[in-house]
Amino acid sequence: MHNSNATLRFVVGGICHETNTYATEFTGYTQLPDFMCVSGDEVEAEYAGTNRSVGGYIEAAHALGIELVYSTLAFAWPSGTIGASVYEQLKQSVLAGIRDALPVDGVLMAPHGAGVVEGIDDLEGDLLAAVRELVGDNVPIASVYDLHGQMTDSMRIYGDLTLPCRLYPHTDLLQRGVEAVELLAQTARGALGPVTAMHRLPMLGIVMSTDAGFPAADVNDLCARIGERPGVIDCSWFHGFPYADIPAPCPTVVCTTDGDLDLAQRYADEVADWIWTNREAFRPKVLAPEEGVRQALAVESGMVVINESSDNPGGGAPGDATHLLRALLDARLPPETACFVAIHDREVAQQAERAGVGATIEVKLGGKLGKMQGAPIVAQAYVKAVTDGRFTNFLGSMLEGLQFDLGTSCRLIIEGVDVIVISRPTQTFDHAMLLLHGIDVKCRKIVALKSSNHFRAGFQALASAIVTVDGPGLSSADVASFPRSRLAQRLWPLDEDVVRVSPGQLAQPS
Ligand SMILES: [Zn+2]
Repeated sequence: MHNSNATLRFVVGGICHETNTYATEFTGYTQLPDFMCVSGDEVEAEYAGTNRSVGGYIEAAHALGIELVYSTLAFAWPSGTIGASVYEQLKQSVLAGIRDALPVDGVLMAPHGAGVVEGIDDLEGDLLAAVRELVGDNVPIASVYDLHGQMTDSMRIYGDLTLPCRLYPHTDLLQRGVEAVELLAQTARGALGPVTAMHRLPMLGIVMSTDAGFPAADVNDLCARIGERPGVIDCSWFHGFPYADIPAPCPTVVCTTDGDLDLAQRYADEVADWIWTNREAFRPKVLAPEEGVRQALAVESGMVVINESSDNPGGGAPGDATHLLRALLDARLPPETACFVAIHDREVAQQAERAGVGATIEVKLGGKLGKMQGAPIVAQAYVKAVTDGRFTNFLGSMLEGLQFDLGTSCRLIIEGVDVIVISRPTQTFDHAMLLLHGIDVKCRKIVALKSSNHFRAGFQALASAIVTVDGPGLSSADVASFPRSRLAQRLWPLDEDVVRVSPGQLAQPS
């Protein structure tokens, strides 16, 4: 136990990656250069003030007078499986930084929750086990996760505080980081003795907003009510990440109490029971792009966002699918009705740059990065603008203030539709990318984009309606359509008649 008058010292480190194992076939293993690694003094420059868990760690530590020391923080955008030697290098770097920081009063990890390494299904559990071995049993470890992860037994056993973010869009990562520091400080001082139970559901992971009106918001409400009960430190849930061929890509409820494991299990079971009983509300719904365009045009006034969830680079997809763009072109809209932001095609962006603004070029756009991406769009395109692809996300969007560099980018006009073409895949968080290319969203009836849900934080206030469409793709909402060779048990809705064993039995505390 720590002397309550002395300054606490926490070490921060981790590897953060959402792994879409299905992307590996098309984009290869995620490599070392894909990771942004910072350590020491670089960490505050990179993360302070950002809506990331580490942003919250920094803010709360400063407020509470806690000393933070930084090991390596490695982050890569969602992509394919991490190569084994790449992970080993990152892991050793994180461990070395923690070793150098010892002795510490606590560890703050910055993981994702859906990391998969060649040969390791559970990056987070593997790294936590190694950190635990290094720091021993008496140093508490807290982790803030993305809710699109799977909780594993290793994460439960080797971590003390397991805190997935609660909101999708993830606008609460900073807040969860603040909570993690506060709880870790109380634990380090001996004022709390967290114990954690979990309940994994025999369902495929859920991709659904937690905004009001969605059933996922009801789960959050129940967790919040349980969180108020005596003895409960935190009650929340992982939605699971369905875009990974791993043994258990499932939602998991996690409850942490102050020393009462039975109570924690009972409450985790209670939330899991609710989800299971109401599972029909979580059944994936899919709307074809053509139908989505028809629905958007039927909205009488205001701007309508159509999001293509099936090719979301934020879920590890290549971002060059042409299904929604094809449907827009086929709708033969009057000029300046619709814009598309954005399609990933470096070749075409460079072709436009070479031809220059004002040129008309013949393009073969998109559809090049895998068999699910649709046929390339072959068309005459007018080059309206060419940019360096650099911009900063607006206030209010999920990653507000974050700087993007998408490489050479351009605005093409194809059959009256404005199409932004970028050289690096990204999902669209707000309209900064449109403004960069001279388009005011208020002057378009339809804004089409690639994102599953994070765009809502940046577009909700601007749009009179949002229509989600889904074609074939590596982040399709039709999660049951992905081939699965590694499942440890039968899952709903792959099997409609899955019978759930009695509460708690799927994840007995050891
Ligand atoms: Zn997420």
